[in-house]
Amino acid sequence: MADTTGLSTALTQLMEEPEPPRGMRCTVGAILASLDTPTAAKLNELLTTPTVTSVRIADVLTGSGYPVQAPSVARHRRRGASNGCRCPR
Ligand SMILES: [Zn+2]
Repeated sequence: MADTTGLSTALTQLMEEPEPPRGMRCTVGAILASLDTPTAAKLNELLTTPTVTSVRIADVLTGSGYPVQAPSVARHRRRGASNGCRCPR
């Protein structure tokens, strides 16, 4: 049987890493982190509402001084998936 200690340690480090060195920083995640709790909760609720499009969310955020593009919003909505961002679910 192969020794998986090295792999296991590496995977643990990957899980504990707050910001992965690879991949783009998630704009939506950064915006969420900068908002106060009630506003972040409101945004999170909109992000999980399928009838609200990513374009509308991006437009509102951009219009309020938080520039973000719709694909970034869509990517954040897929967070955790292979084609999503790396924000925690
Ligand atoms: Zn994200």
